[in-house]
Amino acid sequence: MARFVFITGGVVSSLGKGLASAALGALLQARGYTVRLRKLDPYLNVDPGTMSPFEHGEVFVTDDGAETDLDLGHYERFTGVAARKTDSVSSGRIYSTVLEKERRGDYLGKTIQVIPHVTNEIKDFIRIGEDEVDFMLCEIGGTVGDIEGLPFFEAIRQFSQDKPRGQCIFMHLTLLPFIKASGELKTKPTQHSVKELRSIGIAPDILVCRSEGPIPRKEREKLALFCNVRPESVIAAQDLASIYEAPLAYHREGLDQAVLDAFHISPAPKPDLTVWEDVADRIHNPEGTVKVGIVGKYTQLEDAYKSIVEALTHGGMANRVKVQAEWIDAEVFEREDPANHLDGLHAILVPGGFGERGTEGMIRAAQFARERQVPYMGICLGMQLAVIEAARHLADLDDAGSEEFDHEAGKKRFTPVVYHLKEWVQGNHRVERQQGDDLGGTMRLGAYNAALTKDSRAARVYGGLAIEERHRHRYEVDLRYRDALEKQGVVFSGMSPDGRLPEIVEVKDHPWFIGVQFHPELKSKPFAPHPLFADFVRAAKENSRLV
Ligand code: GLN
Repeated sequence: MARFVFITGGVVSSLGKGLASAALGALLQARGYTVRLRKLDPYLNVDPGTMSPFEHGEVFVTDDGAETDLDLGHYERFTGVAARKTDSVSSGRIYSTVLEKERRGDYLGKTIQVIPHVTNEIKDFIRIGEDEVDFMLCEIGGTVGDIEGLPFFEAIRQFSQDKPRGQCIFMHLTLLPFIKASGELKTKPTQHSVKELRSIGIAPDILVCRSEGPIPRKEREKLALFCNVRPESVIAAQDLASIYEAPLAYHREGLDQAVLDAFHISPAPKPDLTVWEDVADRIHNPEGTVKVGIVGKYTQLEDAYKSIVEALTHGGMANRVKVQAEWIDAEVFEREDPANHLDGLHAILVPGGFGERGTEGMIRAAQFARERQVPYMGICLGMQLAVIEAARHLADLDDAGSEEFDHEAGKKRFTPVVYHLKEWVQGNHRVERQQGDDLGGTMRLGAYNAALTKDSRAARVYGGLAIEERHRHRYEVDLRYRDALEKQGVVFSGMSPDGRLPEIVEVKDHPWFIGVQFHPELKSKPFAPHPLFADFVRAAKENSRLV
């Protein structure tokens, strides 16, 4: 049965709790253990699927089609363990399950309360698959003291009581602010945060303290004394140049040792950190820099494209170059010549997105890349727009567009080259949707297979003809225009196994132009860069010698 590590946060948010959890997962794996990571989010949305990327950053999609918090992306990138639907839950989901049960009469007329009904639902969630792994790492979103977080804190407190002694530990992440005027690292906010945690019955075993520099002995001892932990269990989380240094940095600080000690595991198995040493070496010793322009809509918030940025970094690691992302707001091209912004870039990427805003600019970016022979990767919306661009300028369909934009505008203006898909096949069952359905969960979501055309660039890049990638979209490229486009050298090189849905298009006679209907970025890892990103960055590197 699994041992449980509960990870909570205090003082302020955005301290890198997700990253600390993911790095700990990687370190436990390096010692030969199996792990699973989970995120429990106190917000009331049922899932992040309908939250704006400006609000919450990217939505991370799992193979089994869950729309989850971007922290699950970190978990996967550090551990390589594919996340599942059951690895992410929110208050909204918990409450909706409890209310459904109440309506069905499952509670036999009882009064429904936060304790025990909501907390039981949370505990049931934590227990799912507990026999499958050695360690289950559960991160609680938000910070201690948040009103909506209370049922989760209460649930993990109860959970640790339900289990035999020594099977659960608590790790708390806080901030040690540095006051320049006095030259001091302040421990008081951490003391208060631990006090808050203890007042709800949770005593942390390990403190991870985010600080700009190392924690001097005096402060470490003070924290240990006032927060009732061992001095070796006060772990410094210093700012790092790259997130991929985190496993090695936490190991040097003794995090994995402290966790094993807290579980009284002795002797602890020795870690094998060669994978992370290689990753660090590639990050620290690039042979050059390539510039990739990301032309999108949510460019003010990098987190909106988190996995893409990470996948580009991985592609850089595969080619021993540093990838510098240049963020370009697509709307600029609706006023200005794209060349002003795109000249000098080594490659262009148009990411996924929803709604019409900025799309004419993205179309111009795709046209620039196609005509000027600049490597181009179009992801989801970025593929749809590349097809629209080709239809307009190569197949004489001047008013080519997407049904999505007409639907949004409430009037018909385009010939839909990209249309709303209302039924499709997943595995061996049929899925049906209506345009007006609820926004939540009405997309083609999760892993789907595709078959690649022999001798296409896609097949060469993947090194095979069968792939499986994750999807999150409502609209599809219409096959009606396939022949006209293929005559112009825009080939459909990846299709759903039944041949009905285009998955990949590529431009022949171009150094590198690929559009994909899926999200390859979600499956890339630092130690296993996604082939599309690795090859795209290779093409950018080659182009950097020419530009
Ligand atoms: N808006 C487009 C669709 O729904 C593309 C979605 C995406 O890029 N993830 O099909």
